[in-house]
Amino acid sequence: AKAAGGNRFALADAEADARAITRHGLTTALPTALDRGEFFIEYQPLVHLGDGSVHGAEALVRWCHPQHGVLGPDRFIPLAEHTGLIVPLGRWVLEESVRQANFWQERHTDGGPLRINVNLSPTQLHHPSLVAETVDVLERSGLEPGALCLEVTESALIGADDDLLKPLRQLAEMGVDIALDDFGTGYSNLANLRRLPVSVLKLDRSFTQGMQHHPADPVDLKIVEGIVSLAHSLDLAVTVEGVETGAQAEQLRQIGCDTAQGWYYARPGAPDRIHSLLLADAV
Ligand code: C2E
Ligand code: CA
Ligand code: CA
Ligand code: CA
Repeated sequence: AKAAGGNRFALADAEADARAITRHGLTTALPTALDRGEFFIEYQPLVHLGDGSVHGAEALVRWCHPQHGVLGPDRFIPLAEHTGLIVPLGRWVLEESVRQANFWQERHTDGGPLRINVNLSPTQLHHPSLVAETVDVLERSGLEPGALCLEVTESALIGADDDLLKPLRQLAEMGVDIALDDFGTGYSNLANLRRLPVSVLKLDRSFTQGMQHHPADPVDLKIVEGIVSLAHSLDLAVTVEGVETGAQAEQLRQIGCDTAQGWYYARPGAPDRIHSLLLADAV
């Protein structure tokens, strides 16, 4: 038993070492990855729950690493946050996805404005040139500010003072939508929402998961109903993440959620996928 225990520790150590080495390797490779064009963006549609039409798309970044293959954001966004590379990386994501959205927009003028959702990390939020850069990206692309939605996590805004909220207020005044991402996972006081310059609540996937069972847990349903009615009374739109089944979609539609996102509609994918969905909507 003693030997086995020892081995177990040795194995755990080896795994921890391997993770540390990979993390170190990824961290040192990050700055050049941007210059080498190793990042790319997948887009996941956001649909209207009422009629299933495409409302917009969320930009989700991936890293095509020369040795490790395609890495999801959970593997490198925290590292990029830590090293500060998130600022140039986030700038690239914004620029690229706004350019892409403008391309879709120009080809689907009859379908109403298509929204593009871009994630903002806390470091970007604190960066002094956030507003100027966003204005610059929008102006150069030709996309109207109202087509852009910046997603900020609830945890990034907890305890936010006026200094932190000021750039978001400025963006909101220009017509950019601000969404509160992963809503329900933090500790934010619902009454506090009124203070924040947000116009969209993105209900975290954990709520949708609670509705997987059929029939859904009545307490979960009541909680979501409560959030939706409060959000609507504050003039906020509600988007739900992680919709994986038709039954979930139907339940969320009945509760009054506005838009949804999840594998039931489409996994994140190449920009062409959004293009064909828009073409399908147009007929
Ligand atoms: P998020 O903003 O909450 O994005 C939604 C995540 O849920 C995405 O994971 C998406 O692929 C996944 N998802 C979508 N539909 C479903 C579903 O039906 N079921 C399940 N189980 N999952 C679903 P992904 O792409 O791995 O992104 C993870 C996180 O990385 C994002 O969470 C976001 O916080 C962050 N992220 C992604 N791109 C960027 C970026 O450009 N900048 C920053 N700062 N963060 C990013
Ligand atoms: Ca998001
Ligand atoms: Ca989210
Ligand atoms: Ca999430």
